[in-house]
Amino acid sequence: MRSTDSSTHGESEPTLETDAYLNRANRDCTDTERRSQPQAGLSRKHLRLALALFDLSKEGIVFLDENNLVQEVNPAYEEMTGYDRKDLIGRPLRLLSLGSQYAEMFKKMGSDIREHGHWQGEAWKRHRDGRHIPVRMSLTLAREQRDMDINLVAVFNDISLQHETKQQLHQMAYRDALTGLPNRACFYQHVERLLLDKSFLDITPSILMIDLDEFKEVNDSLGHGVGDLLLKQVALRMKSCLRSNDMISRFGGDEFMVLIEDSGRDNHTLVADKLLSVLQRPFKLEGNDVHVRASMGIYKIEDGAENIETLVQKADIAMYQAKNQGKSCYRLYDRVESSFARRKAALISALHQAIGLNQLYLNYQVQVQAFSGKPIGLEALLRWTHPEFGNVPPDEFIPLAESSGLILPIGEWVIHAACRQLALWQAQGVPLLPVAVNVSADQFYDDGLVAIIIKLLADTRLSPSLLEIEITESAAMSNPEKTIAQLHTLRDAGVSIAIDDFGTGYSSLGYLKKLPVSKLKVDRSFVKDIVTDSDDLAITSAVIKLAHTMNLKVVAEGVEDEQVQRLLVEQGCDFIQGYLFSKPVAADKIPTTLRRLRDQAREMVVPPARREPHWCLKPCGKKPYLTHPLALAGGKP
Ligand code: C2E
Ligand code: MG
Ligand code: MG
Repeated sequence: MRSTDSSTHGESEPTLETDAYLNRANRDCTDTERRSQPQAGLSRKHLRLALALFDLSKEGIVFLDENNLVQEVNPAYEEMTGYDRKDLIGRPLRLLSLGSQYAEMFKKMGSDIREHGHWQGEAWKRHRDGRHIPVRMSLTLAREQRDMDINLVAVFNDISLQHETKQQLHQMAYRDALTGLPNRACFYQHVERLLLDKSFLDITPSILMIDLDEFKEVNDSLGHGVGDLLLKQVALRMKSCLRSNDMISRFGGDEFMVLIEDSGRDNHTLVADKLLSVLQRPFKLEGNDVHVRASMGIYKIEDGAENIETLVQKADIAMYQAKNQGKSCYRLYDRVESSFARRKAALISALHQAIGLNQLYLNYQVQVQAFSGKPIGLEALLRWTHPEFGNVPPDEFIPLAESSGLILPIGEWVIHAACRQLALWQAQGVPLLPVAVNVSADQFYDDGLVAIIIKLLADTRLSPSLLEIEITESAAMSNPEKTIAQLHTLRDAGVSIAIDDFGTGYSSLGYLKKLPVSKLKVDRSFVKDIVTDSDDLAITSAVIKLAHTMNLKVVAEGVEDEQVQRLLVEQGCDFIQGYLFSKPVAADKIPTTLRRLRDQAREMVVPPARREPHWCLKPCGKKPYLTHPLALAGGKP
């Protein structure tokens, strides 16, 4: 209050300057006064109160005429803006115009005032000293004062304090507290805005996911304090090599994300190279020279329609590809490789449910005596039919089960299922043959395996000789000492053992000699071409000889035609497994398959005795029997 006089009610009186305004208002408002002559005293009192309010208000009040020129301002407004009343009167009311959203705001202001006589919102005012002041502002059409030259009343509230709090909250919500970099939420918002921006059409942004390779080791060995220091310095170094319109944010932990606004043709790889090189110098942290490297995944955003999660996921996939490639490098997102990675992840996730949802089952493939074709055993082969992925080949899902640890429950399920099936065939009176079950390395080395097998055989009352375990050569040789011990326990339990896929691993003959196994299975890759490939024939022949010198039987896998069978018999191969005799079939097809093969074997011309062979190498007809020269000559071999 600049001047007061006392009233009967002891109320504050208007200022002199406001009195001057009042006089002017009175003069201009004579019509109103005239209309309300009986209440003139009351009206005057109201005016005095109004003026006191105007004068004392903490809110800045401005009266504007029809041309939006300032007619009057109150002291609070003067204080808020730092301008004198006399500097303002007769001039247009100015609001700061900041950015494109202000055009929208002014449009809304105009339409609200036209339609409702009132507008309210937030805006900025410039203080005389150049500061920008955030204000909450309302504009009201002065309808009742149409006879005065006042058109609008503007009321301003300085909301600097609230604004500051809001800024702090924003900072907390959008900044990473440790490094001060924008956080994930801020990055997402920024990229989303960029993609919405029409200028996206002219630029090609890239996002770059960065993950430190040895951060955990630093944290574990030097403590979290040093880990935090490292993250701060890494953030600073990486930021220093980016351009001002690029953005680096910390997603959490040791994960950072860079947005390269315009990656042009190959800016993204240049940036990645720069980032890798600034990290190469050691970091000085509390007297330690700390070395840290990073793996980076880059995704070039070519399609503005993709959502932010998808973009980040793609950069993440590329980053993991870089990690798999030996770390400290970057990889560009590769669609084909990534769809493969996605399928892998989806299959592993589906595989978790496969047992519970009854999606697994066994097929059985018959093994036969090489020269006669007489069935001597079966191999249980796991199958997985998924409602969405269909029949997933074992070569695809078994490695996934192995890498995810699921092979243990799945492998146990296989042994159970094979034993149950044997028990069922026994109950049905089907002549029983030993069933070979494939066992993966982790499963084989699991201490529980032998106990599981022994218990199962006891529960199903099956002879242990009906179960055979197939372990691949590479698995058997990965831990030879343990293999020897484990195989002995199995053999002591009466279970026989075959080494599968022989020839594909690196066997130590010394160890092989010590393994209590009864069969070697020669891998199909050596067997299938023995007719045309003399090397394959030589290898297969050598394996057969080697096995025989160790008193082992040999099973040749993947025999699809008679010529191969004939050559194998010639080399002295004991058993054969392949499509020539039977593909793997469902359990309920086994009785008829075995009957067919037995009937077929009875027709075989070649007797079962092993002889020094002089097989005819010419193709000898389509029937699956062998053409021993003696047989052709009609003699008894
Ligand atoms: P494997 O144990 O060497 O099984 C032989 C594979 O050769 C089987 O493939 C079989 O169908 C295929 N095969 C047999 N004869 C022929 C033929 O004449 N021509 C051709 N082209 N292929 C033939 P499958 O069933 O796809 O199984 C592939 C591999 O998956 C198996 O190789 C085995 O390593 C693994 N596997 C299958 N079932 C299980 C299981 O229950 N547990 C474990 N750990 N591995 C399994
Ligand atoms: Mg096998
Ligand atoms: Mg095999």
